Formats: sequence, structure tokens, C-alpha cells
Amino acid sequence: MIRSVSILGSTGSIGRQTLDVIEAFPDRFKAGVLAANRSWQLLAEQAKKFRPKVVALGDESFLPQLQDALNGMDIKILAGRDGVIEAAGRRDQDIVLSALVGVAGLRPTVAALEAGKPIALANKETLVVGGSIVTKLASSQGLPLLPVDSEHSAIFQCLHGQPERSLKRILLTASGGPFRKKPKEELSKMTAREALKHPTWSMGAKITIDSASLMNKGFEVLEAMHLFQCSMEQIEVWVHPQSIVHSMVEFVDGSILAQVGLPDMRTPIQYALGYPERLSHAWETLHVEDCHDLTFEKPRLDAFPCLSYAFEAGRLGGTMPCVVNAANEVAVANFLEGRIYFTAIAEIIRACMDHHQVQTEPTLDILDKVDAQTRDYAASLIEKFRAE
Ligand code: MG
Repeated sequence: MIRSVSILGSTGSIGRQTLDVIEAFPDRFKAGVLAANRSWQLLAEQAKKFRPKVVALGDESFLPQLQDALNGMDIKILAGRDGVIEAAGRRDQDIVLSALVGVAGLRPTVAALEAGKPIALANKETLVVGGSIVTKLASSQGLPLLPVDSEHSAIFQCLHGQPERSLKRILLTASGGPFRKKPKEELSKMTAREALKHPTWSMGAKITIDSASLMNKGFEVLEAMHLFQCSMEQIEVWVHPQSIVHSMVEFVDGSILAQVGLPDMRTPIQYALGYPERLSHAWETLHVEDCHDLTFEKPRLDAFPCLSYAFEAGRLGGTMPCVVNAANEVAVANFLEGRIYFTAIAEIIRACMDHHQVQTEPTLDILDKVDAQTRDYAASLIEKFRAE
């Protein structure tokens, strides 16, 4: 049977690699829905090539252009935030790959779960911000959340088939990003261009900046806590610059399992789409003889405080992870525009956390409100941190 895949965020890095996987396995997968935020030209190209039933464009202002480009084709076109949510909730799809950027991915993922669809999850914010809501919904529906993030795919694979309560701790690996060795004093003047040079992974701009600040790793810690239902104390982060060991799990008997491979996102994407089967690989694989040094070191929390903030937010729970995420989204956007220095990203997040009163067990509406309030507050801080 050919699985029809709904790709939320088809024009981003993960979305494009998902289409590579679909193209490599034409007898297993087809693209049924393609949704993007703003890149209407690429979305139109993808639609012409993959012939989905539905396309959705988050930013309505480009709708006329998209309609023009797909004129005469038998493709339903949806637009706006509600259009993306409607596309995500289509019942005629088999699996939904959630790869929109930022917290914008949360509501569509919830819509897909409500429609009874298994999720291949690449959008971290879905769990960072709405973790308890989303995991409860998935388990009440009996639906899997299949991680696409390389680290979580590794942990998921290590835990597969293991008895319950056998997990002792998760050893989450991090590449360390482009500033791994930069002295703390030099970090403040780092520009977006320097931060965008990731040493091992090729990814979108937002996540590459998050990797440089270790905020991405912090989000992954929160994601792991929800996905694998463990405490923050059971998660350790280890900097592993070679990005070969994608993460490890230690069991109560002291055994440690690791999943290793080349840093290529198509592997975890393929695993999630094909789950529970393993499909014959179509990509280059790891040559173990090339693995001379695999090293592990503690992250430098003094230089990269965002990672500590994520642990703190995870322990506080409730709305605090939402605050960290919203503050980070505003700060990173301003950093990419050259308005603030690299180190101001962490300072803005800290200020927003200090300004916030945690609310426990928030609903989606409360999360929306906290997200909007935090964005306003973070935006009001930009002037104070403006780069000279
Ligand atoms: Mg990752």
C-alpha cells in the first residue's frame, strides 16, 4: 500500500528532504498534502512535480500568485492559518509530517491528531510548548508520535522493544555548533553570517542559530522529556562534535545503546515514514573505518546559558517553556536582521522568563495568549539590546 504523506512545511529543509525520501520510494509513499508558510514559488514547483490533492499557504497575501501558478490543475488550494490547519486535519491522508517552523506548527499538529493521523514530528515547538496537551491527545487516540529529529529518532530506536521502566538516563548528543570553541568574551560580537556556518548539519536559518546558542539542544531536552515521559534529571547533554552518535540510552542494568550513522536527516525521516518497517536505504551510509575519534565533552553552560534556561523551564513546566520559545523566536529573528548581538538572544530570554508568572496546565488558548504577550515584551526589549 502506498502511504499518502501530508507534509506541513514542505518548502523548508526537512520538507524538501522528505520529498527526496518520497521520490526515492515511489512504490511506498506519495505526497498528498503540501503546506508552506510563505515560499509560494517553491510550493508551486513542488505541487507540479508531486501532484498532491491539496496545497496550503500560511501567508494569504501570496494566494493570488499561487492560484495563478497552479491554474488549471486539479489541486485544492487552501490559505491562511486556518487553511493550514484544515489541510493538516484531512482524513484522506495516512501520516502527517509536521515540519513547520516555530510554534506555528502546534495547532496543525493537534488538528492532525484529532483527525486520527500518526505524526512524524520534526517541529520541536509542538512538544516544547504544547507537550502535555499533545502527548495526552496522541495516547488517548492511540497514535504514535514518531520523532524525526535525529537525536530523538536515535533514542526512540534504542528504546524500541525495551521493557517499561528499564530506562535509566538519556544521553542526548549535541554537535556544539559553530561557536563550540569560541571564548566566551568573543561571543557577543558574533554575526548571523558566522552563526549560520554549521559544522556538520545543513539546516534552515532559525534552527542553525538555535544550534549555535544551544537553545536547539535545550528544546530537544524538553522534547525528549515529553516523548519518552522521563524527568529532566534523567536527561544529560553531551557535546559530540563529530555528529556520528545521534544519541544514547543507558538502561538500569548499566548497558548503553547508541544509534550511529552519518548526519543525514533523510535517514530519520525515512524511518519515521516507514515505521515500524525498515526500508532499504537509498543514501550513503557510515564507514566505521572513517570513525577515528568519537569524543564527548560537557557543554559550556557559562558561555551558552540558553541550555540551562531550557532545563529550568522544563522543571518549572506549565507556560514557562512557551515563554522561552516565544522570546527566542523574537530574539533570533532580530539577530538574523542584525539588530542585536548574539549574546543578547540569551539575555532577552532570561528577561522574559523573569517577567513571567508560570501558569500550570495551560490550554491551547492560554498558550496562544502567553506566546503573544511574550512576543510583545521581547520586542519591547530589542531597543535596549540594540547592536551598535
Ligand atoms: Mg536535532
